Amino acid sequence: MKRNLKKLVIFSGAGMSAESGLKTFRDNNGLWENFRVEDVATPEAFKHNPALVLEFYNQRRKQLREAKPNKAHEIIAKFESFYDVTVITQNIDNLHELAGSTNVVHLHGELLKAESSINPRLVYDLKEKNIYIGDKCELGSQLRPHVVWFGEAVPMMAKAIQIVQKAELLVTIGTSLAVYPAASLITATNAKCIKYIIDLQEPYLIDKSNYTFIQNKASEGAASLAHILGVEIS
Ligand code: NAD
Repeated sequence: MKRNLKKLVIFSGAGMSAESGLKTFRDNNGLWENFRVEDVATPEAFKHNPALVLEFYNQRRKQLREAKPNKAHEIIAKFESFYDVTVITQNIDNLHELAGSTNVVHLHGELLKAESSINPRLVYDLKEKNIYIGDKCELGSQLRPHVVWFGEAVPMMAKAIQIVQKAELLVTIGTSLAVYPAASLITATNAKCIKYIIDLQEPYLIDKSNYTFIQNKASEGAASLAHILGVEIS
């Protein structure tokens, strides 16, 4: 009976998928897989060198198709037996879903989808495919990755704020909280919300009095959290 379960919101970032072999970028001197984000993850980059941008995401897709959810993704999926869970992720991978989470909001889009470059509402499942120059939407415009690039609006933000406002527990995992507006979500909680942060290092801009900080990698941190919450994860 989901209605009677406490509302638990997981807010995840790149550190969540690090143990699955997908690199974060703050941990690599601000580079994402050796690229500057300005060169591969902005609308200007796509305008200037679309082939490079498409190839960057084709490589990320190849990497993702070889990756598996890690223990942290699995523990979060198991929380659904005990809580009414919504995962809000900044990640463009689908590892939460592969682990079994059924309610996932992708703030920054999804790697395995393409969208029209003239109408963002035209979104296509890529399945095993990639995107190349010349691949077009039904309106005849070039396809682009269905991801939110730096400098673009975040269409899912309003929905995410509404979800966080109702959260009874908010667990932030593996995000530097350096990317806005996503990072501002942690301030959208109601006064009664109990908050945890799991990360290798404490993110910036945190009013520490409001949080329990679990300094650990995502898998160990999620296991500790289960223990703290008294949830039996076998
Ligand atoms: P970030 O790279 O800015 O920060 C990563 C955070 O994860 C850091 O705080 C770091 O200390 C922590 N971390 C690293 N390894 C960890 C581990 N094993 N366990 C727990 N924490 C760990 O990431 P961000 O805040 O998510 O912002 C980056 C942006 O880049 C996001 O918007 C995202 O869309 C994109 N991105 C996505 C992916 C992905 O989909 N897997 C990967 C890289 C970047």
